[in-house]
Amino acid sequence: FELHYQARWQVRSRRLRSAEALLRWRHPTRGMVMPSAFIDLLEESALIEGVGLWAIETACAQLVRWRAEGLLLETVAVNVSTRQLHAVLAILRRCALPPSALELEVTETIFMGDSTRAIAVLNTLRGAGVHIALDDFGTGYSSLSYLHKLPIGILKVDRSYVADLGVRDSALALTRSIVALARALQLQVVAEGVETQQQADLLSGLGCDELQGYLFAKPLDAVAFAAFARRPAETLLVPTT
Ligand code: C2E
Ligand code: MG
Ligand code: MG
Repeated sequence: FELHYQARWQVRSRRLRSAEALLRWRHPTRGMVMPSAFIDLLEESALIEGVGLWAIETACAQLVRWRAEGLLLETVAVNVSTRQLHAVLAILRRCALPPSALELEVTETIFMGDSTRAIAVLNTLRGAGVHIALDDFGTGYSSLSYLHKLPIGILKVDRSYVADLGVRDSALALTRSIVALARALQLQVVAEGVETQQQADLLSGLGCDELQGYLFAKPLDAVAFAAFARRPAETLLVPTT
């Protein structure tokens, strides 16, 4: 397994604020395998626990290294499923990283299984200063009730809404409502899957705090990400493909 990192661009400061760590499986014959091909399998077996812990630890260690090299990202974001939450504080201590440097991306699947316990652990982590984001917002069963059950500070608008901006009028109306909802709940809003300048302009106009997507950068390995992040800010809007 390896982690690739995708830039998250902050609208207000016009700078990279964060990087999302995304799992890749370098297969001897199949080449680079994407998470959609194996995450479900890992989740069904107990294997996700080990791989997930490895991902948190690797991303934290990478942020420590980048900071030492002068790359000043505020946070690294890691996707987690419930079974890894208990070990997060110990990992942060091992890496000597302040909790506020880590963001955990959870999805509503956290409500499957023992959600009371998962929410309790998330509360502890939030209390310690770890940022909690709700990923893929607006997909799946999307009950609004979990917005006040989960101790989240960040909402990630699913890329399906972003993809339809400028294509369907309803996507603009829905995205505007999601941003308004997040604002009212004092959540930060991140839009993912931003591929065009038009989408970026619409989303920053609606009040999104951060944008993430191929327009800025695809997920890159650690070395390529560092090279990308060191480019002067004014060149960052150029698509990298
Ligand atoms: P996610 O957390 O919603 O990650 C965003 C996905 O959107 C990534 O796919 C990313 O490559 C893709 N993406 C980013 N920008 C664009 C864009 O502009 N256009 C399009 N079309 N796609 C874009 P990826 O890397 O294949 O990851 C898929 C999912 O796998 C993630 O969705 C996340 O739920 C899961 N995942 C990834 N890494 C981990 C991990 O370490 N642990 C766990 N538990 N899940 C992971
Ligand atoms: Mg994510
Ligand atoms: Mg997502």
